[in-house]
Amino acid sequence: MNRSITNVLFGAFGNASSSALNSDNAQGTMREINLEDVAVQLAYARQVVFVPGYGMATAQAQHTVRELANALESKGVTIKYAIHPVAGRMPGHMNLLLAEANVPYSSLYELEQVNHEFPSTDVAVVIGANDVVNPDARDNPQSPIAGMPILEVDRARFVVVLKRGNGKGFSGLENPLFFKPATEMLYGDARDSLARLTQAVQQT
Ligand code: NAP
Repeated sequence: MNRSITNVLFGAFGNASSSALNSDNAQGTMREINLEDVAVQLAYARQVVFVPGYGMATAQAQHTVRELANALESKGVTIKYAIHPVAGRMPGHMNLLLAEANVPYSSLYELEQVNHEFPSTDVAVVIGANDVVNPDARDNPQSPIAGMPILEVDRARFVVVLKRGNGKGFSGLENPLFFKPATEMLYGDARDSLARLTQAVQQT
């Protein structure tokens, strides 16, 4: 009863054999998308779900996320934020940062509220999240994170991942999400990418 939620959800890290670390699905190449194409997909979406993680915190991108959300909402796009309980590096990390940027509490959706929304989501925007969106937890019984609840962004129609490069998450595990057919990568610092996306959306 004295275990933290992080310990409960991620307690298996470090105990796995190296052969169990990578799913068979985590192969192939990560496909890059250019910023203008992402802007068009966002501007013409019906619903977009933002999925923030530790990378949003390090980039201090919470205000820029809100600016992009404003630009999209002014075009009639429905915006939701999907919050995983252990996203970031401390309990409530994402809620804290998004509140600082005046994101309305009513736009924040916990894992169990939002997972059923992904199949009807046009674009899921993963903002520096990795472990909390790793489908191996659901699909690979050999994974150290098997059974861990995740945000099921891989069920969205299109997934764009904002990250700087090939960095892994806190767990050090490969993430098969990045290799899926409906996933493309927008490389760069999250705050910079979001700022440039906001400009591009406004011009779309
Ligand atoms: P994560 O798995 O640590 O992944 C963070 C991702 O952000 C990385 O893939 C990294 O890739 C990217 N990134 C870093 N800086 C960036 C930047 N400036 N711009 C864009 N992307 C950037 O994060 P998460 O999905 O939020 O998962 C949290 C992890 O921390 C979990 O494993 C959780 O157990 C653990 N943890 C949580 C808590 C808590 O209480 N919330 C406490 C301790 C540990 P690049 O390097 O390629 O950019």
